[in-house]
Amino acid sequence: MRKKISILGSTGSIGRQALEVLEKLGDCFEVVALAAGNNTELLNEQIKKFKPRYAYAADKNAIEGAKYVSMEEICSNKENDIILVAVSGRIGLRPTITAINNGINIALANKETLVMAGDIVMPLAKSKGVNILPVDSEHSAIHQCIKDLSQVDKLIITASGGPFLRKTIDEMKNATVEQALAHPRWNMGKKITVDSATLMNKGLEVIEAHHLFNMSYDQIDVVVHPQSIVHSAVEYKDGSVIAQLGLPSMHIPIQYAITYPNRIEGIKSKSFSFSEIARLDFEAPDWNKFKALKLAYNAGKIGGTASVCLNAANEEAVFAFLKGEIKLFDIIDSVEKMMQKHVVIKNPSLDDIFELDNEIRIKARELFK
Ligand code: NDP
Ligand code: MG
Repeated sequence: MRKKISILGSTGSIGRQALEVLEKLGDCFEVVALAAGNNTELLNEQIKKFKPRYAYAADKNAIEGAKYVSMEEICSNKENDIILVAVSGRIGLRPTITAINNGINIALANKETLVMAGDIVMPLAKSKGVNILPVDSEHSAIHQCIKDLSQVDKLIITASGGPFLRKTIDEMKNATVEQALAHPRWNMGKKITVDSATLMNKGLEVIEAHHLFNMSYDQIDVVVHPQSIVHSAVEYKDGSVIAQLGLPSMHIPIQYAITYPNRIEGIKSKSFSFSEIARLDFEAPDWNKFKALKLAYNAGKIGGTASVCLNAANEEAVFAFLKGEIKLFDIIDSVEKMMQKHVVIKNPSLDDIFELDNEIRIKARELFK
């Protein structure tokens, strides 16, 4: 039977790669709906090729060949077996909740969903019997390594270290936007690429892992691994460590999430060769240079709305950096300032979260004036 899928964020880095995977999988999948933001030209090409019945874009009149629906409507359509949430930013949260409420499984790329509201999303998914299948490569790796969560002692998340791994703090302070966007291993959207340069991305992933795998922050380690071949690992109670390896490609975790629990040849183009890779290096992260990582651990440990503040303040600062308004290290300084001022709400509702998110963004932008 063909599996029915919709993709939110089909024109983005993950969305485009997901469609490449679907193309390889051929008849196994039917695309029900595609959603994009402003890139309607690409969306319309995708509609021509994948023939979804429904589509969403910011400009509804620009859509050709599919019926316009909202992202909420896409996520309410129970025809879907799975929805890939690959929009960037907070926009992913509400549709994800709607899909869960409708009993639809989620392939989750959008990390903001769990960083902002993991304490709401994960219990809701459990109560509705919905699978949240991680697309982020580290979490996909951990998911693939875990047989019995109750026997796991520790999660080990790998980080490539980004473009500034071998740079000094001074060189990093004066980094240009271009340098920050030159990621050595992954080709991703701009926001996540800047986060990878500050290692905030790894911090967000630690919070994501805490929610996905119900692990305390003391049980989550980060290790720098520049080759990005070991995508993450878990340590079992008896000391045995199981890691997931593969060439650095998002195609594999995307395909695993949407075909789970099956493994299909699909996107595989080349066999893995240890001898070609030759060496794998690991080192502890430099906590002084990458303060974002510490900030994220702290936000996670504080709990409640602390990570809402972290995420919103960071996102606004990254946008300001991309516009050339602030320097790279100002991102982290402004997040730290916002975190110090933030009054944490312990058990926020979804409305509290969105309200706070707005407030923090306004206040964060004031810092850059
Ligand atoms: P991109 O910036 O490349 O793509 C974002 C997508 O979201 C685009 O399709 C964009 O549409 C769409 N979008 C943005 N705003 C809106 C909106 N208001 N309404 C509807 N659609 C919108 O990001 P990535 O693909 O890199 O990342 C997507 C998510 O996945 C992020 O949360 C990221 O953290 C996560 N992720 C990404 C990885 C990667 O390798 N890229 C790895 C792991 C996680 P348009 O372009 O048409 O405006
Ligand atoms: Mg990742």
